Parts: sequence; structure tokens; C-alpha cells
Amino acid sequence: MKSFNISIDHSCPQCGAPAVLEETDRLISCPYCRVNSFLIEDACFRYILPHKNKDINSSLYFPYWRFKGTLFSAYPDKTDYRFIDISHQGINSTILPVSLGFRSQALKLKFALPEYEGKFLKPDLSLDDILCITEKRFCAKGSDQPAIQSFIGETASIIYSPYYLKNNMLWDGVLDKPIGKVLPKDFDTNLFVTEKPEWTIKFIPAICPDCGWNLSGEKDSLVLLCKNCNSAWRANFKKLEKINFGYFPETGKDLLFLPFWQIKAAVSEIALDSYADLVKTANLPKVVQKSWKEISFKFWIPAFKLRAKHFIRLATQFTLVQPLDEITKKVPDAAMHPVTLPVKEAIESIKIVLADFIKPKKDYFPLLPDIKITPGNFYLLYIPFKKECFDLIQPKYKMAVNESALKTSENL
Ligand SMILES: [Zn+2]
Ligand SMILES: [Zn+2]
Repeated sequence: MKSFNISIDHSCPQCGAPAVLEETDRLISCPYCRVNSFLIEDACFRYILPHKNKDINSSLYFPYWRFKGTLFSAYPDKTDYRFIDISHQGINSTILPVSLGFRSQALKLKFALPEYEGKFLKPDLSLDDILCITEKRFCAKGSDQPAIQSFIGETASIIYSPYYLKNNMLWDGVLDKPIGKVLPKDFDTNLFVTEKPEWTIKFIPAICPDCGWNLSGEKDSLVLLCKNCNSAWRANFKKLEKINFGYFPETGKDLLFLPFWQIKAAVSEIALDSYADLVKTANLPKVVQKSWKEISFKFWIPAFKLRAKHFIRLATQFTLVQPLDEITKKVPDAAMHPVTLPVKEAIESIKIVLADFIKPKKDYFPLLPDIKITPGNFYLLYIPFKKECFDLIQPKYKMAVNESALKTSENL
């Protein structure tokens, strides 16, 4: 499935200069006032498609859910994944198109803000309804059912498409043309449930709350770093929140630090508290040593979006290794890959990662649906990789990520 990022017309929250954002942008650097702002994610972003005719302001904004994410399905013999990028009408309607088609890719959107006049129709289908429809469409009928399924790294938003009434016809505001269909006699725009566009977009200055220094990061980074006081910050409840972080020291040239979430989590149904437990659960060819019972087990999940196959492989490899390297609690002085997968999404992937390494599958798989994951502490750790030809190699653990796989993950 071809993937894309939405472009959004906006203006600098400080000086009002025009800006175009991509939907994954979080750190916005204004070339005019030079102020860096951080866009705080709310429950879900709402956008509107522009009117072709700027003079129309009596709009009927019809909602579409927009969803992008990877559906993972764990089977005893394999983990399947499917990348999904869809739009689907938020209100069942036979008059209007079921999906947005290509219009959200071709046009620049705007944030739906209180300044827009018109009627915003309230979706009566929830995102879960849409995902149910989608999952059903993608699940092979009659074949084995997966033990568990999970969406990982998803983005959900609502895109409003404008329509208006003229000469007893419904006009598509994007094309400024009447829709081809005859309206039913009882068609009445007053019958739709509407909501007021009281949604706001919150930007906060990208300044370290501890020392006042400018925070740094890539434009799509969900975690910002302070190189002055060596702290890391993520948005949480509309504020910046300090998180634990560090890196594994490494010397040499051509290094790229990739971020990982190290997560302590309680797993029900299976004993998985220590390294000794892991050796047993993953059926590793090792003789358990007494001291391994004292080593606390943690999940290691990439903190960046990556194509499904590579994502699960890296998570499993690092989780099986349980690196115990010394951690430097500073911002590394080398290239760093941005955090693009929030810890919440990493936690959602834990069960799929677990399904990938537990052995023998016939013993453990029946337990999977009932297993509950209760996350505890987490740490953001930057792990050094060396650029070699087309790959990035982790020198100590000999793990590889294809560089082009990393580059093409921007649209996931
Ligand atoms: Zn500005
Ligand atoms: Zn600071």
C-alpha cells in the first residue's frame, strides 16, 4: 500500500509567518522569527480540506477518519504484518464518497480551528468501528485465526471535506462542482448532528524547562534533548515531561545512535522477571546460572518507526540479548536518529514481540490472548550503530539495520 504524509498550511505560532507542516512534524523552526515551537499532540488532529472557491463559507464539513498504522498478527509459525493507510467516511452515507481517495494527498490541509464557519458534522462511526471494518477486510477468511493482533505505530485523524447547498443540489467544495447524485426528498442538513470546532492546536516554546536552553531534535522527533543540562523531554498532558535517558558509549567515525525504549513490564501467565526466566521462556541454548535470577528482565523496543519485519526483528534481537552496557547519562556527541515511536506504542508492541520469541509455541500460544502486560519504568537508550556500505551495524551485538529501510520509514 502506498503511503503518504499529509501537508498542512499553517502559520508560525510566534510571528504568524506562513508555514507548511507535514503531519509528522513536531518541532517547528520558524525561518523568520527563529523561534522553535513544539506541537503538542492532542487526542487526535482534525484537518479540513480547502474550498476551491474561497468565497464559500456556508459549508457542511463532512468527516472522514484517516488512519495509518501496521496491523501485526501473531500465528504459531509466523508473525504477519500489513501496513494500512486508509480514509473512511465517519458517517454512513450513500450520497457522499466512502473514502477521500487521493484528495488528502494532493491538497494542502488546514487545522480545523474555531475560526471556521460552517457545520462540522459529528462522526457517528468511531475509529474502532472503522478499524473493525478494516481488520475484517484484511483478515483472510477461513484460514487460521491469529492468536493475537495489534495495531502499532498508528496515526489517526479526522479530515473534513467541505460541501455546500446551491440550487437544491449538494456541491463538492473541493472541486466546486455539484455531486452527481440526486438528493433524497427528505435530505435536510439540519438533521445531521453537528459539533462546534472548538479544537485548538497547542504549540509550546521548545525551551528546556530546567535551564532555559533551546531544545534540539529533528522536526519529527517526539523527544527533545537539552545539550546544555543533558536532559530529555517528551510531551505529556500538554506539558514537557523529563524522561530518563542515556547512551551506550562507542568510539569511532560514522556513528548513528538509534533510540530504543527499555521497558520493565509485568507479564501475567508467564514467569518473565529475570534473565533466567527469559532463557527458559525463549528456550535459549544456555545453562541457567544462579546469578541470572538477579538480573531484571526488560523489553527493548525500537523508539523509531521502521518497517514491520525489521521492527520486530530488532526488538526481539535486543530483548533476547538484554544488554547490560554501562550507560552515559548525556546527549551523545554524534548523529542521532529521532524518536518517532512513542513509548505508548512501544508498549502496545510488547505482546507481539513476546509472541515472536516464546518457545515452544505450542505450549505458550494458548496463553497469549489472556496475557496482560502492565508497564512499569521505562528508559530511552541510544545505541550506537556504525555505517558500513548499505547497512548500519551494531558493533558489539552484530545486529544490522538496512539504511534504506530506515530512510523509507518516514512515511509509516
Ligand atoms: Zn515565526
Ligand atoms: Zn536544559
